[in-house]
Amino acid sequence: ATPTALMVGTARSAKMGVLIKNGEVLQEVSKIDTVVFDKTGTITVGKPEVTDVVGDKQTVLTVAASLEEASEHPLATAIMKKAQDLKLAPSKIKNFAAIEGKGVRATYEGQTAFVGSDKLLTDIQIDDDLANKATALQNEAKTVVYVGLGEQIIGLIAIQDVPKKSSKQAISELKSRVLKTVVLTGDNEKVAQAIAQEVGIDQVIAGVLPTEKAEQIKNLQEQGRTVAFVGDGINDAPALSTADVGIAMGSGTDIAIDSGGIVLVQNDLRGVVRALDISKKTFNRIK
Ligand code: ADP
Ligand code: MG
Repeated sequence: ATPTALMVGTARSAKMGVLIKNGEVLQEVSKIDTVVFDKTGTITVGKPEVTDVVGDKQTVLTVAASLEEASEHPLATAIMKKAQDLKLAPSKIKNFAAIEGKGVRATYEGQTAFVGSDKLLTDIQIDDDLANKATALQNEAKTVVYVGLGEQIIGLIAIQDVPKKSSKQAISELKSRVLKTVVLTGDNEKVAQAIAQEVGIDQVIAGVLPTEKAEQIKNLQEQGRTVAFVGDGINDAPALSTADVGIAMGSGTDIAIDSGGIVLVQNDLRGVVRALDISKKTFNRIK
C-alpha cells in the first residue's frame, strides 16, 4: 500500500475509535488468522460481583475482606464491596502476601488465612460437598475462590463477571471471516468454558499463570498461526508484545496500552473486526 493509503486506513479506523499505531501494524492485521482474548475486562465487563457465599456468610466474608483489603485484584474489589454492603468491618491483618495468579495469604487474628483458587490448596483436602458446590457454581460461569483459616477451608465465594453486550456479536463476526477465536485466562477451566460457550469462542486455554500467557501465544505461533492478542491488564503486557498484533482495551492499564499496536478506545471487541476489514481493504486495493 502507498503511504497515503495507509494514512487513509489508519484515519478511517481512528474515526471508529480503533487507534492503529502505524502502517506496519495495519499490514500485520491483514495476516491474522487467530484472535486470542483475555477474559476479565476484555470479553467480560470487568466488574465482577459476589453472587453466592457458601459457609458462615459473615465469617467467610469478614475473613476474605480483611485479606482482600490489601489487594488490587478485581476479585478483591468485588469481595470488599459485598462486605461493605453487609456492613461487615474487616480486621487488621499481618504478613500479607499476594500469590500471583492464585490468590492472597495473611495472618488473621493469629492464624494463617487465605483467599484464592484451588491452586492455593496444595496441602488441604476439599470435602466432597464443597467441591460439588464449587463445580456447580463454576459451570454457571462463576469464579470460585476458597476462603481458608487455620489450615481449614471455611467456605467459598462465587463471583460473576458478565460478558460485554458486544462480545458475542464481535466473536460471531470474526468467525464469519474464518478466524479462529481463543480465550486465554488464569481462571478455572470450567468458568472459561462456560464464558466461551456464552459468547461462541472456539478454544479455551485456562488456568494459565500470568507469567505463562506470552508462552501460550508463542505456542500458537509455533503451530503456524498468525495471532492477535486482545487484553487489558498489567499481566497481559508480555502477551500483547509477543503476539503478531497486540490489541489493548482503552480502559486497560497504561502498560497494556503501551504494549499494544492497536488500542480500542471504546473497549468494544467489534473494534477488532473493524481493524481487520480496514486492513484487508488497504492491502488488497493497492498492490
Ligand atoms: P485473569 O486471567 O482472569 O486475569 P488472574 O491470573 O488474575 O486471572 O487470577 C487467576 C485466579 O487466581 C483467579 O481466578 C482467582 O481464582 C485467583 N486469584 C488471583 N488473585 C486473587 C485475589 N486477590 N483474591 C482471590 N483470588 C485470586
Ligand atoms: Mg483482564
